[in-house]
Amino acid sequence: MAGRITLTMIKPHAIEDGNLGNILAKILEAGFRISAMKLLRLSLKQAQEFYKIHDGREFYKPLTEFMSNGPIVAVILEKENAVQDFRKLIGTTDPTTAEEDTIRKLFGLNTKENAVHGSDSDENAKLEADFFFSLLERY
Ligand code: ADP
Ligand code: MG
Repeated sequence: MAGRITLTMIKPHAIEDGNLGNILAKILEAGFRISAMKLLRLSLKQAQEFYKIHDGREFYKPLTEFMSNGPIVAVILEKENAVQDFRKLIGTTDPTTAEEDTIRKLFGLNTKENAVHGSDSDENAKLEADFFFSLLERY
């Protein structure tokens, strides 16, 4: 059975571009419930830890530097079939190939600065939610 949670991060450029509210509105309009949310800045070490599955890829260094270069908003989202439905709402990694009206198409700049993160599996959603939030921080 598909899980009920996914983890997103609104990436630094999207916050700097003034799109935090627009992105949260799209997420809520799509029927997701916010279970936990915080604004924070990741250290380089924390960004490397979060993205460790990509260690060794050519984009690992620019990605982790970019993600630790400004504030992010981390959010646990709840909905039936959360992981899959959220991936559909955000679109493909490269915003130029993303479907119309997806979050990455609307607010992404390029393959690296693509506005939002979305978990890729139920297992990773749980690991990523635990990375940012204790049980006391969830509702
Ligand atoms: P997704 O976020 O769609 O699940 P990946 O897990 O493959 O994509 O990559 C994680 C993040 O790394 C992407 O969201 C993007 O910010 C960055 N990234 C991925 N591929 C590239 C690339 N070819 N060049 C630059 N950055 C990339
Ligand atoms: Mg991914």
